[in-house]
Amino acid sequence: METKREFLKKLGLITVGGMVGGSMSPALASKGFAANKNIGLQIYSVGRELTADVPNGLKKIAEIGYNTIELAGYRNRKMGDIEVADYRKLAEDAGLKITGSHVNPPARKYTKENMAEINDFWKQTVEDHVKFGVTSLVQPGMPTVENHDDAALVCEVFNKAGEIAKDANIKWGYHNHAGEFRRIVKEGEAADTNVRRRRNAGDVIYDLFINGTDPGLVFFEMDVYWTVMGANDPLEYFAKYPDRFPILHIKDRKVLGKSGMMNFENIFNKAYENGLDEFYVELEGIGNEMSQFEGVKQCFDYLNNAPFVK
Ligand code: MG
Repeated sequence: METKREFLKKLGLITVGGMVGGSMSPALASKGFAANKNIGLQIYSVGRELTADVPNGLKKIAEIGYNTIELAGYRNRKMGDIEVADYRKLAEDAGLKITGSHVNPPARKYTKENMAEINDFWKQTVEDHVKFGVTSLVQPGMPTVENHDDAALVCEVFNKAGEIAKDANIKWGYHNHAGEFRRIVKEGEAADTNVRRRRNAGDVIYDLFINGTDPGLVFFEMDVYWTVMGANDPLEYFAKYPDRFPILHIKDRKVLGKSGMMNFENIFNKAYENGLDEFYVELEGIGNEMSQFEGVKQCFDYLNNAPFVK
């Protein structure tokens, strides 16, 4: 007859040294359960279904195994029609910690004239996010950038937002899609008639944002899927700017790991090497194939079972 030790060893729950890994309780280990990993969810992933019943939806997220959430949907100083303090209580009652939030300022095009209004928006937003108890606040929408002057102004606004958040002990960051990997050229470069030279001319907007902002004030929450969709390699960015990506959006075309186009193992290995603080699962594109909750469950299971995720 098989001993309990042999049984656990088969399940991979005991290392060669005989130690049970992770922070698993002996009670759980004896039942053959592995402890869940620390995995966060961007709640936009379950937007439609969560909005239908917020208290129970938050409970479902916790039941799947997620323990932190990044908000989406803060508007007019509320989450939908729920007050900030009430939303925090619902999350905590469900067993979830609100650690982050996605918020866009009221203007897409930044000008010298509307900078003050944007700063005021961030002040108010930071005040509310202190009440949510977040540790990070992230802008997910790209401001209009048509030239280098626009990019410089955006960096100035980002730095100011970072400063406002930092005063409240909140990290301020920016989340990319694919548009940030577009290049913008200066006048002379645009007039160059050599096609190959013109294609590689100018500066990538994402790099202008990274280089133009203060690392002490602004971090970058890289969405690894959108970086790949922007025809760029997340690993190259991790190597080039090792200190700028403390938080990631882990996303695939649909459910994580299914498209085969994302090398999550390499992404996690390099991100950990750079000191990754946390990451959020994001799910889009499943249409009617399955419910959003089923989709985020499959994403959780993929990462929770992946040996490369700590
Ligand atoms: Mg994202």
